[in-house]
Amino acid sequence: MNTEPADINAVIIVAAGRGERAGQSNGPKQYRQINGKSVLQQAISAFTAHKDIDLVQVVIHADDMELYANQVDDHKKLAKPCIGGASRQASVLCGLKVLDGKAINKVLIHDAARPFVPADLISRVLDKTVPNHGALPVLPITDTIKRGSNDMVLETVSRHDLFAAQTPQGFFHSAILDAHKKAARVQNFEFTDDASIAEWANIPVHLVEGDANNIKLTVPEDFAMAEKSPVHTIPDVRTGNGYDVHAFEPGDHVRLCGVDIPHSAKLMGHSDADVGLHALTDALLGTMADGDIGSHFPPSDPKWKGADSEVFFRHAIELVKRRGGTITHLDTTLICEMPKIGPHRDKMRGEIARMANISIDRISVKATTNERLGFVGREEGIAAIATATVVFGG
Ligand code: MG
Repeated sequence: MNTEPADINAVIIVAAGRGERAGQSNGPKQYRQINGKSVLQQAISAFTAHKDIDLVQVVIHADDMELYANQVDDHKKLAKPCIGGASRQASVLCGLKVLDGKAINKVLIHDAARPFVPADLISRVLDKTVPNHGALPVLPITDTIKRGSNDMVLETVSRHDLFAAQTPQGFFHSAILDAHKKAARVQNFEFTDDASIAEWANIPVHLVEGDANNIKLTVPEDFAMAEKSPVHTIPDVRTGNGYDVHAFEPGDHVRLCGVDIPHSAKLMGHSDADVGLHALTDALLGTMADGDIGSHFPPSDPKWKGADSEVFFRHAIELVKRRGGTITHLDTTLICEMPKIGPHRDKMRGEIARMANISIDRISVKATTNERLGFVGREEGIAAIATATVVFGG
């Protein structure tokens, strides 16, 4: 009985090629190692790690079954590989047919030779894959382009509307399967990517911003360069900071890091004025260089009047996840003379841990007075600073 939900997003990773240009002596290039892991395994991991991808279908060459079994780890999202055809196009069609009947909604089609595909690129392609349209990640061409023949320049080609196509390319499964079947029926096997089949079948294709790190490993020099590139060897650990202040006004409690604490005043603000969560939200946005809490939630917008700051904090957490980030640590310091933070510290840590869905030993809440100096010292308000640590990719 088929009980699968109706909106499964899948990816087909095409790994059936022989990779002649990368040097035959080392076997097909998708099984070569870079920094201790095969190219194919790294491409697979990029998709199994993505929260919006439910199923990964790899298409391999019949001769590579043993290589595949030796070099690829099991994963709950990873289906049994299927055997491809004589061309890239034929292999994609095999993959699309295997997915038929599995209630697939969107399907991305990706070349195994691009193992460094970033999570935010996958998200962008999924977002732009809308009904009756495909999505194609591209980079603008920066080299000057010449047309030539017999060692002679014939002309310079304007590059202003030229783009280099990458993968993954996104489509609705039924639409791209139909297009592929149609191409196979008329014996048209000339297509080098799936967006060109879509064009041929009159499926409009959206251009999506590609990523320069999403390189295709083709010649031996590409492998040498990839092994040396710090982008692929140094973990992408980022820290962001945040700072916030709110003034007191008459009231009977303050909310700090999601916890209501009785006090002789409350904090003034458009939202619930949770200065701790605001600093943490800014720290998370800082790890992505994605503006600040004011640019995401303008104080001028009446929608956020009296808002629970958990909404802001969770929004930043969601953005981190979408970009493939894992929050590894959150640290905040509350700066105030009163109320006393100590008795509420662990409850605050628990609240932050709950909202961020990470363990409490990765959450730090500290407090200090301002030694009676300045606005904090005069008990005119509370300040907070925060640091977030996020690991991206991996
Ligand atoms: Mg604030």
